[in-house]
Amino acid sequence: MSPEKQKKAAIDVLKKVLVSEHSGFYREKYSAHIDTVDAIIKGSEEWEALPFLTRDDIQNSLYSDRLYIPFNDVRLVRATSGTSGLGILTIPRVRLHPAPLFDKQYLQPDSIKRAVTFSGAHCVYADNFRKRFNLDSIYLDPGDVNISSRLFSIYKPDILFGFPYAVASLLPHINDKELLKSVKVVSLFGEWCSELQWKNFEKHFPNALIISEYASVESQSTLCGPCSEIIKNKERFVHPFPDSVYAELIDPATNSVITEEGVSGELVVTVLRNPAFPLIRYKTGDSARIIRSSCSCGIGTSV
Ligand SMILES: [Zn+2]
Repeated sequence: MSPEKQKKAAIDVLKKVLVSEHSGFYREKYSAHIDTVDAIIKGSEEWEALPFLTRDDIQNSLYSDRLYIPFNDVRLVRATSGTSGLGILTIPRVRLHPAPLFDKQYLQPDSIKRAVTFSGAHCVYADNFRKRFNLDSIYLDPGDVNISSRLFSIYKPDILFGFPYAVASLLPHINDKELLKSVKVVSLFGEWCSELQWKNFEKHFPNALIISEYASVESQSTLCGPCSEIIKNKERFVHPFPDSVYAELIDPATNSVITEEGVSGELVVTVLRNPAFPLIRYKTGDSARIIRSSCSCGIGTSV
């Protein structure tokens, strides 16, 4: 999807929110910006003038005001701070989105039988893989590393799913390092895996394919991930998933949009697929930069 189409999809989210009878949160937020919102709806290029959404906006609002859907349609309420260390956010969801599946040619599904996941929404991944690859799975609680490490040793998983911190917290408690050599895939998501963590995982899982995706509690969705080509080249870039997010980069000091390649800025996301509480121009607080490398995967968004 081209950036123009993604922007159009973001504007469609805005339109849907504004016609909903359950959109008090955004109506109030935009009350001083009616002219801007009108201009966007009418098709002029005013998107960049639309106010940002911040974590404080969410934190300081009533849960009921943020419900874009009728209360009875909420299937899941997630109350968590994720790994941010900030206060707890209460985020409604219609359902758990099926997580994007990786290209199976890199997973060698015949050799993957047992998955370990670390709590939270990771059960969705395990369920996807169970259905697609008929694999077995168990959940480990990173809060109890002693039991988790014992279960890990007995179960001997082929694939791990989890936040980088959760996987890292288990490593010192696995006494038999040979067990780690049998892990074939380490699938990380949530907070971005730092270079130091990445090197640590490469050292401890010498035979594993390491995949890192970007997701957040607020978006309740995986927003960016590597394509097959990035995985094959063992690079640490990610594509914004075109069906999931319209991504912008801003200068946090001036709030102006950055379009130059390689310049570091704050990632701003408009989530295209969470109808319970849409995020529109949400300032993630995470830093990113644009890389316009030519990628043969066909996803078509900058990495
Ligand atoms: Zn690609």
